[in-house]
Amino acid sequence: MKRITGKTGITGILGHPLGHTLSPVMHNKAFETLGMDFIYLPFDVRPQDLATAVKALPALGVKGVNVTIPYKEKVMPLLDEIDSLAQKIGAVNTIVIEDHKLHGFNTDGSGFLASLKEEGFDPTAKKVLILGAGGSARAVSFSLASAGVQKITFVARDLLKAEKIASDLSQSFHLTLEVWGFPSLPEDVVGEAHLIVNTTPLGMYPQENVMPPIKLEGFHRGQHFYDLIYNPLETKLMGEAKKRGLTVQNGVGMLVHQGAQAFFLWTGKAPPLEIMRQAVYDHVGYGRKKVT
Ligand code: NAP
Repeated sequence: MKRITGKTGITGILGHPLGHTLSPVMHNKAFETLGMDFIYLPFDVRPQDLATAVKALPALGVKGVNVTIPYKEKVMPLLDEIDSLAQKIGAVNTIVIEDHKLHGFNTDGSGFLASLKEEGFDPTAKKVLILGAGGSARAVSFSLASAGVQKITFVARDLLKAEKIASDLSQSFHLTLEVWGFPSLPEDVVGEAHLIVNTTPLGMYPQENVMPPIKLEGFHRGQHFYDLIYNPLETKLMGEAKKRGLTVQNGVGMLVHQGAQAFFLWTGKAPPLEIMRQAVYDHVGYGRKKVT
């Protein structure tokens, strides 16, 4: 059991509800492995208490926190400074507290990108199909645009949300943008993508038998399929993609890399990436290290 003193560095996660979060496991294992006097705590904050909780962080001496659903956007007006990428994405998932000031960052998109490159996929000049148009679709698409993709096609059930992301992207980046509704997305649009990213929760526990409604006939060898879901480790759509010869990747890499980048922002120390990854697999994958 860790000994907590007045000098222990406090970090944590703000969200509501927080039952499912793997971040405490991942960060506490990292602190323990590096012998750092830090702790990572879950702060399950009710919506009516969000402003009070955030404003109290500097006074309590908290070093930094992650922010998760449903507060990634709501927290922004409560901060002193916001990093330009987080500002463009319109969401903050990491707060650093320095000199009593709250600084906001977004490591979701950069974590996604780091995990994609780790799998050997270079997004430069590639065509990408993104399923969904929610918070993670925004983070993923802005990071891919900043990495120089040639085209992003969004397919969503709410066309207005997808059009808003495309319009915001076009303000900052030069790339081809296309928007489709789920039922009408043609097979050839699926087929032209080098990278397909599922940012919807379709297929996530406990609804593992559900799949996003896209035409699987468009899937072919040479494409890479990335599912942001990490529970289960292999979604039904990942299985279908594998059958058709695609390389596949689950959301563990993004989770680990966004956490590792937050760890660095709070501590200035190199994060023990593999220890953090194993801590996640120990909790969701019964010790399995890889699924592909
Ligand atoms: P979100 O903001 O709620 O966005 C979800 C998107 O999926 C929205 O576009 C939503 O459409 C769409 N969607 C939901 N149900 C649908 C359905 N039945 N048919 C068609 N579209 C549907 O959620 P998020 O924060 O982006 O998270 C999405 C997923 O990514 C979750 O599974 C989450 O666990 C995962 N995630 C993983 C990581 C990681 O580190 N690996 C990080 C962030 C998120 P509407 O807008 O019409 O509702």
